Amino acid sequence: GVAGARRRGAELERSIRERPGTFRALTGDRPTGRLHLGHYFGTLQNRVRLQNLGVEMMVLVADYQVLTDRDVADRLTERVEDLVLDYLAAGLDPGRATIFTHSAVPALNQLLLPFLSLVSVAELGRNPTVKDEIAHSRQSAVSGLMFTYPVHQAADILFCKAGIVPVGQDQLPHLEVARVIARRFNNRYGTPSNPVFPEPEALLSAAPLLLGTDGAKMSKSRGNAVALAATADETARLIRGAKTDAERHITYDPVARPEVSSLVLLAALCLGRDPHEVAAGIGGRGAAALKALVTDAINDHFAPLRARRAELAGDRGHVRRVLRDGNARAAAVAAATLAEVRTAMGALY
Ligand code: ATP
Ligand code: MG
Repeated sequence: GVAGARRRGAELERSIRERPGTFRALTGDRPTGRLHLGHYFGTLQNRVRLQNLGVEMMVLVADYQVLTDRDVADRLTERVEDLVLDYLAAGLDPGRATIFTHSAVPALNQLLLPFLSLVSVAELGRNPTVKDEIAHSRQSAVSGLMFTYPVHQAADILFCKAGIVPVGQDQLPHLEVARVIARRFNNRYGTPSNPVFPEPEALLSAAPLLLGTDGAKMSKSRGNAVALAATADETARLIRGAKTDAERHITYDPVARPEVSSLVLLAALCLGRDPHEVAAGIGGRGAAALKALVTDAINDHFAPLRARRAELAGDRGHVRRVLRDGNARAAAVAAATLAEVRTAMGALY
């Protein structure tokens, strides 16, 4: 659960600070639309921080996983390139971070076969995040990929033997799948002194579940998100339309007042301040004052990122080169791991 992940994450942070160069992190996003503030404060900021500490960073564009809940991978190339623009604008540095699309790394995908054999159908059906996504899916039939994509994610993480996975809270059940698969693979095919896979750890941020303008998880698919790349006017309009409650006095109480508190938290994150103080500063001035503060805080905080993004968007060739280099690097890592896996499993040829 969240408490356990937090405890292990705090220990991990200490080791990372001591020896950053010994860690590899992997994480990624589906190219289903522009990244939003939930991504930024939930994981992207952490990725850039880890990279700058000296952790080796692998960032994956999960293009195959678009198909879990969409019929066609509509405008895929454009969406992939938009995602890379968000990464670069946020500070991921292709000189240090490997940015790649997993469909371009066949050896990674081949790990899915042995990994699927290590989990039961009942386990796949119990995954709470998958259940939630099915409940919100616009498709009438649930695909087999919907149930098996967490195993594919285990391949994404384990192909590069990542020890750290900076993610939002919805990913904790999937991290557990990856840990179980690493453990079972090692037990079945490895030797105790020489495990093939490390057990990866989730690294949660201070805002592992940011809510959108309707009070539900901020999500690309739910139309409740403020995009990183939104204009100042779009941001103002989205925040003006955000749900609040009937209580005029503003307080920070995420359990009792999720909508108001998520606005307070957004302002606090952008301003680098404590949410209780931010709420006290607004007090009886009400939701309109809160929304004005949030809008300015977002627009000020993201102005440099947005400017960088606009500049980078003019050079699609650069984006494509970043992906080509990243794909080549990831393919080399995947080939080495697949060879090791096949040897461990007793393949002779
Ligand atoms: P989709 O609706 O297409 O699934 P999404 O907004 O849920 O999009 P993902 O690509 O599934 O985004 O998630 C990418 C990463 O961002 C994951 O690590 C996830 O935990 C994190 N993340 C997504 N939404 C939030 C949020 N609202 N708060 C914190 N972290 C988030
Ligand atoms: Mg999602």
